[in-house]
Amino acid sequence: MSDPRSPKPAADPAAWQTATRLVRGGLSRSPHCETSEALYLNSGYVYDSAEEAEESFDGTRERYVYSRFRNPTVTMFEERLALLEGAEVCRATASGMAAVHAALLAQVRAGDRVVASQALFGSCLWIVADLLPRYGVEIELVPGADLAAWERALSRPARCVLIETPSNPSLELIDIRAVADLAHAAGAVLVVDNVFATPLLQKPLELGADVVVYSATKHIDGQGRCLGGAILCSNQLLTDVIGPYLRHTGPCLSPFNAWLLLKGLETLDLRIARHVENAQALAEVLQGHKAVERVLYPGLSSHPQYALAQRQMTGGGGIIGFEVKGGKAGAYALLNRLALVDISNNLGDAKSLITHPWTTTHQSRSPEEKHRMGIGEGLLRLSVGLEDIRDLKADFAQALDGLAG
Ligand SMILES: *Cc1c(COP(=O)(O)O)cnc(C)c1O
Repeated sequence: MSDPRSPKPAADPAAWQTATRLVRGGLSRSPHCETSEALYLNSGYVYDSAEEAEESFDGTRERYVYSRFRNPTVTMFEERLALLEGAEVCRATASGMAAVHAALLAQVRAGDRVVASQALFGSCLWIVADLLPRYGVEIELVPGADLAAWERALSRPARCVLIETPSNPSLELIDIRAVADLAHAAGAVLVVDNVFATPLLQKPLELGADVVVYSATKHIDGQGRCLGGAILCSNQLLTDVIGPYLRHTGPCLSPFNAWLLLKGLETLDLRIARHVENAQALAEVLQGHKAVERVLYPGLSSHPQYALAQRQMTGGGGIIGFEVKGGKAGAYALLNRLALVDISNNLGDAKSLITHPWTTTHQSRSPEEKHRMGIGEGLLRLSVGLEDIRDLKADFAQALDGLAG
């Protein structure tokens, strides 16, 4: 609604294009009229009267009461991300794992069934495979690309389905629309971990998902500065199920980190365009090198699910999986020869980062589990950064040329 004292017409955020949403979405200025988002580092709030305090708790008055529940800086981040995603509502969390944990644990109870794709980020797999069964939840893991396996698993009722597409680190894709239809027929809520695709390259809610979760630590911050996470869903699911769980268990995002993440969102589209452009170019270079065994990148026509990638993503993303000849020894030789690219288990950073999942992010899983997830001893996961592509190509050329084979 427009302010009667202001000559400026009211803007309509729902009509904005993506770049405008990223820069201005959710902005709520204080009476001091600051340009950039204000940082509210307070934990509590005060009331003008005892009656106002009472009304704030009985639901007749909507306002901030405690920063574990809501905080103005965090709200700006949540509203900006919801506007970007096209979700009714967003709640920010302290990390991506807090988001995945709350999205699942808020929904399940003893005796329920949860079905998940088997190629998951290490800690997501721990929550599903190790934690949920402790509370009497039956779990089933499905090879993500196998639709017949999804049909079998979801021929019985389930409470929740969790998928990650593209998967970490094997870059396997899952048909979101097909799994959403099967999940709904089984009475399940579909939760999609959309970290690898980012909110710009894939829109799970438009494809039938009910909940989208992010590690904002990755591309949304994108500059290695802070941890954060987010849950996006319908108003009803938030009010009835996820909201009370968050309010009373307290995995809330720090206002300072929300402020950093708001700044991250302002440049997300610019950065993702460069990440994708660099990754596509590097994937092509790797694929053409004689020391490279195979490359997994959704933007390459050699990806086994290239047609699905074209259908549900608008770019291949910033992460490449690849194997060099010589298994683990070959992989280590490459890691130790790279001069510019850092060895790091993090991803989605401005700096290019590379890791050996078998011995780092997925070290605690058994060899059988790793093979089932598509992780071989020679697999490397490269998070392509924002450096000049000429420098990245040169670094890989010198490192690969020096490998035997
Ligand atoms: C990093 C990551 C997470 C966990 O996020 P944190 O912010 O590290 O807690 C979950 N899922 C995927 C796919 C990730 O890459």
